[in-house]
Amino acid sequence: MEQQTGYWRNIREATRSVWGGLRLTFRHIVKARKSVVNHSIKTEGYFDQQEGIATVQYPHVSIPLPDNGRYKLHNEIDDCIVCDKCAKICPVNCITIEPIKATEEIGRTSDGTPKRIYAAKFDIDMGKCCFCGLCTTVCPTECLTMTKTYDFSVFDIREHNYAFAEMTAADIADKKKALEEHQKSKAVQPPPPSGEAPKTARPVFKPKIKPPGT
Ligand code: SF4
Ligand code: SF4
Repeated sequence: MEQQTGYWRNIREATRSVWGGLRLTFRHIVKARKSVVNHSIKTEGYFDQQEGIATVQYPHVSIPLPDNGRYKLHNEIDDCIVCDKCAKICPVNCITIEPIKATEEIGRTSDGTPKRIYAAKFDIDMGKCCFCGLCTTVCPTECLTMTKTYDFSVFDIREHNYAFAEMTAADIADKKKALEEHQKSKAVQPPPPSGEAPKTARPVFKPKIKPPGT
């Protein structure tokens, strides 16, 4: 008798469980007649609107992205002071910079920082980038930013190396030559007349000691 009761109880539970699963499936089928409205993630109730067809017909339709999306890097090269901080902090060495020292100030960035170094090369290999964003946090002039551009697929991974420097080969040669000449002219400065201390000598520090009792 007890065996019979258990038998019917199992059938009842299995039926209830199957019905529960089917009910959920049917509910989703009904809701899947409409597509999810792609609101920005900042919209109130964003996570309550996730029922419906979530697949979008990309590239005809795209999901809105937050403004602080961290995708492709961009360097506003006119504001770059070629300090190399971004390259130094990058954990995967995907930023390559070739600096050339200028012989004088060459301009100012939009925030007023003086520029004294040319960028003969400023390459970012997005094929290696792990999108950590560290390079943007150390950039003193905030010229290096992560943008919302996420679709930059290519057929050849080498095309993921983006060059931001704008100098021509002739410009680079000119600036290198000017630096060499400047360094040579500094190296052959005439020695100071005998008896005179060289101009670069550090001034002797004489502490002022008051006589006792004054
Ligand atoms: S985001 Fe990270 S990995 Fe990519 S270039 Fe910047 S520091 Fe390097
Ligand atoms: S940290 Fe900023 S200013 Fe310095 S080299 Fe990199 S991009 Fe240029």
